[in-house]
Formats: sequence, C-alpha cells, structure tokens
Amino acid sequence: MSPAGDTLTTVAEHRQACLDLVRPLPPLDLALRDALGCVLAEDVVSPRPLPAFDNSAMDGYAVRVRDVAGASEEHPVGLPVVGDIAAGRPDALRLVGGTTARIMTGAPVPQGTEAVVPVEWTDRGVSHVTITRAPTPGQHVRRAGEDVQAGVLVLEAGTRLEPRHVGVLAAIGRARVRVRPRPRVVVVSTGTEVVEPGVTLARGQLHDANGYLLTAAVEDVGALAYRVGVVADDAHELAGVLDDQLVRADVVITSGGVSEGAYDTVKEVLSAPGQHSVRFDRVAVQPGMPQGCGTLGEQAVPVFTLPGNPVSSFVSFEVFVRPALRRMLGDPGPDPQRPRVRAVAGTGWTSPPAKEQYVRAAWTRDERGRFVVEPVSGHGSHLVTALARATCLVVVPVGVGAVEPGDEVEAVLLGPLPAPEARDAP
Ligand code: AMP
Ligand code: MG
Repeated sequence: MSPAGDTLTTVAEHRQACLDLVRPLPPLDLALRDALGCVLAEDVVSPRPLPAFDNSAMDGYAVRVRDVAGASEEHPVGLPVVGDIAAGRPDALRLVGGTTARIMTGAPVPQGTEAVVPVEWTDRGVSHVTITRAPTPGQHVRRAGEDVQAGVLVLEAGTRLEPRHVGVLAAIGRARVRVRPRPRVVVVSTGTEVVEPGVTLARGQLHDANGYLLTAAVEDVGALAYRVGVVADDAHELAGVLDDQLVRADVVITSGGVSEGAYDTVKEVLSAPGQHSVRFDRVAVQPGMPQGCGTLGEQAVPVFTLPGNPVSSFVSFEVFVRPALRRMLGDPGPDPQRPRVRAVAGTGWTSPPAKEQYVRAAWTRDERGRFVVEPVSGHGSHLVTALARATCLVVVPVGVGAVEPGDEVEAVLLGPLPAPEARDAP
C-alpha cells in the first residue's frame, strides 16, 4: 500500500526491502557446461597432481644431459634413436644411456630423461639424430605436480566461475561442480498499448522495449530470464498470467502499471486482498518513483514491479533488482560489472533535492586521468536512444538541487572498470 501523503521511501530503504525478499539459492551439483557465471559453493581441491606425469614441453628428443653436453653447430653430437613416443602412449619406458627417443609435446618422458632437445636443434633424424645445441638440465621437461600438487586448493567457495575457472575444473577432472544455480526470472511487460517488436504499429501503440531490456539485463547479471509476451491492462488476464508463471519462477519482474492512473493494472491486481503480498511505495528516486516489491502466491515468489517508462525500468533494475539477483546468485560482494568511481561533472544540471537522481551520462578521461561525466540528454524517462548512449549513471544525492561544472560526483559505470589510459609522461 502507498504510504499516506507525500512521504517518500528512501532509495536505501527500498533497496533493503528488495534484498530482504531474497536469499541465496541452495547449492546444486551442475554439469560443468552449465556452471559458467555461477558462484562456487565448495572449496575445490585437486585430486591429483597437474601435470599428472613428467612430459615433454616440445616436439624433440629425450636425452640425458651428459650425452649431449657441448653439442654445437661446429661439434654436433650424434645419437641412435631407439624409440618414438607419441602423446598418449601408455607404456612405461626407460632411457638407455647413450641413446635418445623421439618424443612429441605432451608425451610422457621415459624414466631417466633429463632434458628434451627441441626438434629445431637437430637434423630431425628418425633412426639416428644429429644434435647441434645442448639443453640445460630439466629444459623442456614439464614435471608432474609443477602446476598443482594433489590435495591442494585450486578454487575457493564464493568464486564466480569465469571461463578460466571452468578450464581448471575440467583440467583436474571435474565433470560436475557444486554451485549456486542461476535464479529463474520471469519478465512480464504490461500495457494495452505495448506490442512486440516486428509488429507494425497502429496509432497509439509502441514496441515492448522493457521486456527485452529487462530480459537482457537479467541475463547480463548471470540469471536465467524467461520473457513472457506483453499482457494487456486487464486485471483478469494479468492475474492469470502471473499464476501460470509462478511454477517456473524464482523471481518475477513486471514493468508498467504501477502509477497513480486508471488502468494501472499491476498495482490493482497485486494490491487486492488474497495470496499476493506486495507493497507499493513512492521512492525518492529520479527516474522511477513508483515501485513495488513483495511476494506472489503461496510459494511467496519475490516480485519486483518496475515503472513502465523504459529509462525508469532500467534504472530501477540497476538500483533495486540487480543487487537482489546478485544476492540470489550468492554473489553479494562489490559488483564487478558496476564499479563506482569519483568523477568530475563536465557540465552542470539541476536535480530534485528531495530525490536521489540517477543521470544517464557518458564518461571520458581528462589529461589528468580523471573521469569526466556529461549527461547524454534531457531528463525524460521515455528517451531510450539517450539511454543507449549512456556509459554510466551519475548519482546525485538527496539534498542537492544542482550540480555545477567541475563538481565532484559519484558515477556507476555501466561496464567493467576500464584500464587506466596510457598517458604521456609530464
Ligand atoms: P505505465 O507505468 O504503465 O503508466 O507506463 C508508463 C509509460 O511507459 C507509458 O508511456 C507507457 O506507454 C510506457 N511503457 C510501458 N511499458 C512499456 C514497455 N514494455 N516498453 C516501452 N514503453 C513502455
Ligand atoms: Mg501502462
């Protein structure tokens, strides 16, 4: 229910209300192929040494160092080639002094091997080889366990799995791994005027920007998104769609229909007494003042109801929903995709003092390496092309009525922290 009068909920209060609705999902054993982007729920220890056996780092010839000592272009050393060892050869071999074996990269070196002479230092002989350069002891031999010993911690619980982590899990032989699963997020757009992209518009209609924007945003965080087609402003239809979706939802996100007008169907349906428990608040944020959050149905599936203007939807997702989804993923630390930086305002603008303002802006670096931010266009929260040009959101706190050129501001980057720009020495 809306609080009476002009009382606004603060951004921090509403964010906390959203966070309080969710918990990290219980861990699950997932096939390695499905684990990318998930947060590890176990400490992973290598069950065996890596490499598992001494092997050759080069295509070449396995030797004892003393047998090729002093080899040079002027004084080549010749050795009989008594074996040929391809990668994958399983039998145990022993190097007899005064001989060599041809060996391929990754093949197990015969016992007694002290170095591998790369093929480039030889005449590539098959039954007899001439060697023109001497290796140092151990050269081009990869020793068992030099990467990791058996029983050693390889990845810590809490690691968000990136491709390189998936690679090491495979390398130590893990087919499955215990992670927190991705929350399944159902995205519902509402509005009788809203139609699918690809459909020709009749007068008064517009395409469903929010459904696609929010679905993409959900996937970008690492959750699974299910986009439901647009639901008209009809209470019966919306109630039916929400009921149908609950079976596959860990979270529901709606857009539109939460303002003060007639036909604000999300608010109408979810405020009605019954199984749903959703509070609607006016939050001290610009854009995105009307917000709702709560739970749906007996299973108490968390729901976030975002306003309909696409920029409001986007900012609401960033400020309120993104932290909640990251919590469900088990990834509550600093958001690597959304670093906060201090920046300098390149131009000035006004801000409603009663609200925390999120300004779509583009950042650059000045000659001192400082971030400089410029708003991308006007404040209208229907301006989607300006949103697309924004590379950060500048946060103007409550109590500030204007930002002057040169003021220091806080900016949330809409992407990972860029590398510092190379600058000429002063
Ligand atoms: P509402 O919150 O439903 O009153 O919608 C506010 C504004 O956002 C209206 O101009 C709607 O036409 C627009 N809007 C609502 N949903 C969408 C959507 N899915 N995509 C683009 N614009 C939308
Ligand atoms: Mg609407």
